[in-house]
Amino acid sequence: MRETPGRPHPHHAVVIAGAGPTGLMLAGELALAGIDVVVVERRASQDVNGSRAGGLHSRTLEVLDQRGIADRFLAAGQAMQIQGFAGIPLDISDFPTRHNYGLALWQGHIERLLADWVGELGVPNLREREVAGFVQDDTGVDVRLSDGHILRASYLVGCDGGRSAVRKAAGIDFPGWDPTTSWLIAEVEMEQQPEIGMRREGGGIGPVNREAGGGPYRVVLKEPLVDQPAEPTLQHVREALAAAYGTDYGAHSPNWVSRFTDATRQAASYRAGRVLLAGDAAHVHPPQGGQGLNTGVQDAVNLGWKLAQVVQGGSPESLLDSYHAERHPVGAQVLRSTMAQVALSTPDDRHDALRDTLAGLLSMDEPRRRIAAQLTGLDIRYDLGEGHPLIGRRMPDLDLGTADGPTRVFTLLHDAQPVLLNLGEPGGLEISPWPDRVQWVDATHDGEWELPVIGQVPAPMAVLIRPDGHVAWAGDLADPELPRVLGTWFGTAAL
Ligand SMILES: Cc1cc2nc3c(=O)[nH]c(=O)nc-3n(C[C@H](O)[C@H](O)[C@H](O)COP(=O)(O)OP(=O)(O)OC[C@H]3O[C@@H](n4cnc5c(N)ncnc54)[C@H](O)[C@@H]3O)c2cc1C
Repeated sequence: MRETPGRPHPHHAVVIAGAGPTGLMLAGELALAGIDVVVVERRASQDVNGSRAGGLHSRTLEVLDQRGIADRFLAAGQAMQIQGFAGIPLDISDFPTRHNYGLALWQGHIERLLADWVGELGVPNLREREVAGFVQDDTGVDVRLSDGHILRASYLVGCDGGRSAVRKAAGIDFPGWDPTTSWLIAEVEMEQQPEIGMRREGGGIGPVNREAGGGPYRVVLKEPLVDQPAEPTLQHVREALAAAYGTDYGAHSPNWVSRFTDATRQAASYRAGRVLLAGDAAHVHPPQGGQGLNTGVQDAVNLGWKLAQVVQGGSPESLLDSYHAERHPVGAQVLRSTMAQVALSTPDDRHDALRDTLAGLLSMDEPRRRIAAQLTGLDIRYDLGEGHPLIGRRMPDLDLGTADGPTRVFTLLHDAQPVLLNLGEPGGLEISPWPDRVQWVDATHDGEWELPVIGQVPAPMAVLIRPDGHVAWAGDLADPELPRVLGTWFGTAAL
């Protein structure tokens, strides 16, 4: 694939740098919309080197359900009440969602399942090469790969992780907070049975196979200094175990040893012209609360349909600005949440007292619901204007009756197309003036409408649902706002 002088560069609508969870999700979203997308990935295979995310939160399970692939993940993991704030467990079994739990599933499996889906959708993945730089002009981006090859694309999306080369080449600032703490993380065998469980200062020891128990074990241990000069080794793990537990439990045969810090930063802008950032490339923070991968996947679901519409010419480029406007505040909230959790984990008596106080508050329904909805992504409300309380929030997965039989809302979103759901008189509005990508569905719903945190809301006559599952408009079909909202999000003319 080396560039040949004089020959035009291969042209793609979108090049994605990085086949981590964010890049894979975005690739799937774009492929569903029929966009010519290619992924460039440094790693030779999808294997995840080192432990990373340990699970999926409720809203991520919902967005996978919206694409009809949640069952693959549910079959591979364990549905559990895994969510917690600074280690204080938060039960969401009373939440109004079909996925009122988290899913314990290691990142390696999550990536494998996403990669399978993206492969089925036919997205090419150019492995063992990197995006090394780019030059953008008015009509596109020349993406320079590490092998010297150049890809021409209409848009480049940096899903290339916290050290994002795309972010740096775009000159996008990454302000935030320097690390205060470093943790060692490793997967090792142990000769003796270790003490299982979380440690007061964060981290701890647990079996890799959470169901079966036993070795190998995942070990996370705070290091004495934030600046660590050398690559971590088994010897570092042994020393850290001995310092924390008084024994190294005969740790041996590491599958890998790695480290992470509580560096907390967010890209000042998620877009620079034809270049966008998503996932860890746009925000990094420590793993407390388990929100990094989840936030990245949800970034991708917010961006995918917008980028697809702009590429197809159905919407103006300005639609892409709504990506930053909607997702930057969500990322900022995640950063605040993780900083608070790190602070609460400080191992001293005063922080213990503070944490106990908070644990008391979180045992009460209202605070528990609020914080748990924040951690699980179920409380997200994009600022799409005033009106019905559904506007800007996620559409609940209601059971529906239609002329074709029973269905549910998320099933209507499998193709990542917008839906105008009419729950009033069938055929109440002529659909033809609207963009032909908007699916019109006449349906009935007998039950209540209940949202996480805010509770019951009045049943609207009709709802306009974006492909990401957020409600763009709700009301009466005669509402003069409806044509404007349709135009804003989906263009006015049929393509
Ligand atoms: C110890 C630990 C525990 C965690 N636990 C959780 C958790 O429980 N829940 C959770 O949600 N998150 C968790 N996270 C965070 C989660 O791992 C990340 O947020 C997630 O991996 C981000 O996905 P991403 O696709 O944006 O970036 P990455 O996973 O970093 O993927 C970036 C990809 O880009 C590739 N790449 C890099 N540079 C280039 C380049 N120039 N060209 C081409 N390819 C490139 C990389 O090889 C990689 O495949 C944890 C992280 C750590 C370290």
